[in-house]
Amino acid sequence: MTVTLVKAARIVDGTAAEPADPVNIVIEDGLFRDVGAKVTAQADEVLDLSGLTVMPGLVDCHVHVIATTANLGLNAALPSSLVAARSAHLMRDMLMRGFTTVRDLGGADRGLQQAIDEGSFVGPRLVICGKALSQTGGHTDYRGPYDNRDVGWYAGSLGAMGRICDGRTEVQRAAREELKNGAQFIKVMADGGVSSPSDPIGYLVFSVDELKALVEIAKGFGTYVSGHLYCDEAITRALDCGFECIEHGNLISDANIERVAREGIPVVPTNITYDLLASRGAEFGLPPESVAKVADVREAGLERLDKMHRAGVLMGYGSDLLGGMQTEQSGEFVLRGRYMPADAVIRSATVDAARVLRQEGRIGVIAPGAHADLIALEGNPLEDLSLLTGQGAHMPLIMKGGTAVKKAASL
Ligand SMILES: [Zn+2]
Repeated sequence: MTVTLVKAARIVDGTAAEPADPVNIVIEDGLFRDVGAKVTAQADEVLDLSGLTVMPGLVDCHVHVIATTANLGLNAALPSSLVAARSAHLMRDMLMRGFTTVRDLGGADRGLQQAIDEGSFVGPRLVICGKALSQTGGHTDYRGPYDNRDVGWYAGSLGAMGRICDGRTEVQRAAREELKNGAQFIKVMADGGVSSPSDPIGYLVFSVDELKALVEIAKGFGTYVSGHLYCDEAITRALDCGFECIEHGNLISDANIERVAREGIPVVPTNITYDLLASRGAEFGLPPESVAKVADVREAGLERLDKMHRAGVLMGYGSDLLGGMQTEQSGEFVLRGRYMPADAVIRSATVDAARVLRQEGRIGVIAPGAHADLIALEGNPLEDLSLLTGQGAHMPLIMKGGTAVKKAASL
């Protein structure tokens, strides 16, 4: 049993507009045991964090740890061993940016999750959906118009973000297989997308019958369906079918903003990815037909941030970056900070992210019983969100489950 005493922690978790008064934190066996001004313990290790800001470990609600290149068709065809090796690097880098939990929205499997849990790979806690579900010509079908080769192999290829299923029976089987294999929720490509060749934004792809069948299975398992969604019509359809989380949501209408706020449905905007895809997508391997689609959603996504914030929509932090662009994972903080107050931006990666992931009280918070995930920052992120960028340069301490994965010599 290892006990760590953290002293003089000024906590910022987005629930207040100023850092809290200093507290002591007792960490025992990977969990926060006690938090308070006068708390103390017989500790194996003492960390004095006076002069620093302390935050819960950050949570990114939308990543793709297997996207080793922005050319997702190419990525799908890579050997799974190579994808796993590259993915280990991508995940380590996420942790070193302060993200101690990430939710993967398509591709990562139980094997990667287990490799982290066992310590074979160093990375954030990984929440997975297995393969995202898509249909012929949908968002994870990377075949162009003259290519009708079978893609049944997507389901077994680690580098494939999704798998293809058509018709009620096939979507049911795919969802059941993903849940059997360790998926913690179901991800459905319920609209067209940017990084695929044949599906225009606004393509109402799966039938209502298929969408309802997927929701029935997820709910029966005790979990939820999250949808890749841009267009308002696709969003209405998904909500009517029982989807309980919206990814992207760039073209959501005022009426549906009110609806998701009222119904408590979370939205995970991912603006940084469009910013980068527009400016540097081609350089990172995004095919030209995809670069052309970025403009359809980029500006609209930014405009919606303020509206959703004011309407009280539960928002999660999302980056959704592919390949070499993943280094900009923390850029979403700064981008959102131009449209929303800093405390709300921070909350989207802490307490609100925990609600999105249905792990309230266990992650995204420094409180007794939660995983002892925390970062220490030089400076106050409520005044300067860019302190969270720079690949962890302003973070002398990053701790996951009570173990320091980064600790400056000065501590
Ligand atoms: Zn995504």
